[in-house]
Amino acid sequence: MYIGAIDMGGSKTIVAVLNEQFEILTMERFEGHEKDWRKHFDRTVALLDRCTNKLHITTNDLSALGVVPPGMVRNERFLLLAPATGWRDLDMIEEYHYRTGFDIIATDCDVNASAIAESDVTGIKDFLWYNISNGIGAAIIANGENVPGANGVSGELGHVKVEYENPRPCPCGQKGCCEAHASGAAIGRQVLQLANENPRYAKLFSDNGYPVNAYGASLLARENEPISLKVFQEAGKYIGRSIAIGLNVINPPRVFVGGGVSRSLDLLLPEIRHQIEIGTVEFARNVPIEQTNLGYYAALKGAAAIALRKYQKYNGTSRP
Ligand SMILES: [Zn+2]
Repeated sequence: MYIGAIDMGGSKTIVAVLNEQFEILTMERFEGHEKDWRKHFDRTVALLDRCTNKLHITTNDLSALGVVPPGMVRNERFLLLAPATGWRDLDMIEEYHYRTGFDIIATDCDVNASAIAESDVTGIKDFLWYNISNGIGAAIIANGENVPGANGVSGELGHVKVEYENPRPCPCGQKGCCEAHASGAAIGRQVLQLANENPRYAKLFSDNGYPVNAYGASLLARENEPISLKVFQEAGKYIGRSIAIGLNVINPPRVFVGGGVSRSLDLLLPEIRHQIEIGTVEFARNVPIEQTNLGYYAALKGAAAIALRKYQKYNGTSRP
């Protein structure tokens, strides 16, 4: 079986064909985004053609298509707002049906879709999926299904308040959100500021050829460099406060952490654990916190997973 998958990130778009084991068979990508969403969508469909050509098949051989747009999605259909691109109020299913003619098209936000893929890949049916990349988000998976909330935007643990003394403004309009203090972008901004203030710290990045961002700082932290260790300890404190709220509210049996910053989970985890220890009720506390099994292409696999589920629903076959 062939499944088409489109992952539109804030900074790049990946188009791919996967099989039902979520193995990526072929992939195309482009950086940035078109201001006009119509052009952007047209471009993804052209790349989908190129992907199928490389496999010597046609788009007619795809069983379903999954599309993950870069923003909040209501009712597994409507893109409410994509903050990075400014697109809003788009009927994703209709737009892609119009462009491809496919009947089976699934869409959801990257975090929800990734969480569904985690469940299908591992067979685990109850967990909190916590995503740390440019933003911070979460999805609640119960009995193998995403718990969507009234408008499909449940699990916004990136926008719970975790800093009251010196709250930073958040793109969502609030102040002191976890996302404003501990996302990959927030960590990156802090690293840049520290490097600007401290030439000796800046020199560590240039001497080693590391980028001055969250990833570069994680490499220094692994070499026990104290300023970078402190940065991840701070971020871990905020992320820990946010996860603790999630544990108190839903008491999940397990937490998976995805997103680019999850590669640094080992650096964050001691402080996350500490915050959970002091911020949760006793019986919600002893929960395994693990890195995602999906690797770097979680959202792409997520797009394929929601598409496969829709295909199986239409064709009356049960999920693996
Ligand atoms: Zn916020």
